[in-house]
Amino acid sequence: SKRISVLSVPIDCITMDEAVSKIIELTKQPGLHLVATANAEMVMLANQDPVLHGILNSASLVVPDGAGILWAAERMGERVPERVTGVDVTKELFKVAADTQIPVYCLGAAPGVAEQAVSNLQEMFGPINIAGIHDGFFDEAEEHRIIKNIEDTGAKLVFVALGVPKQEQWISEKLSSLQGVVAIGIGGSFDVLAG
Ligand code: UDP
Repeated sequence: SKRISVLSVPIDCITMDEAVSKIIELTKQPGLHLVATANAEMVMLANQDPVLHGILNSASLVVPDGAGILWAAERMGERVPERVTGVDVTKELFKVAADTQIPVYCLGAAPGVAEQAVSNLQEMFGPINIAGIHDGFFDEAEEHRIIKNIEDTGAKLVFVALGVPKQEQWISEKLSSLQGVVAIGIGGSFDVLAG
């Protein structure tokens, strides 16, 4: 798919179906693959935060989450086919995870929230191979256990809901040594999916 630049932040012109196929394909490739869901706030923040900017520049995929991204692209004469939001891409990936039983790790949001989201998603799609779930409020010792747990369980899809830019920084700092793993920053999506 074509990659455009909105205020110097890369955006992949991709549909939901294409994004899901690409993400599943990335789980079969070496390395850690970071997926970001971009909205106007993230683009503005990246323009003030060189670390976030660098992370987005080297991301495997940056999907067009916000309507503002589609608007900006259109103004530039580029066509972004549709919004690919964090909530929707999480749902679609859980659907595939239910079908294929690839192991999924869920990190972030307040205690109990991701559990409730997963329970709702399992009601929709059937049993999921859950490698682990942990809330987004942890100390350093707990963090070590989380990272080890992600490694040891062989989780292939890691959903990280710590907010922007914490989640992108966390993925790129803490998960960089993983192999054949896609980690995706999903902001407040667990809160929405738990509702
Ligand atoms: N969060 C977390 N740990 C933190 C800070 C935030 O788990 O240290 C969670 C918070 O509970 C919420 C999500 O991260 O579920 C951030 O949601 P928000 O809608 O603010 O995301 P953004 O707009 O940054 O994408």
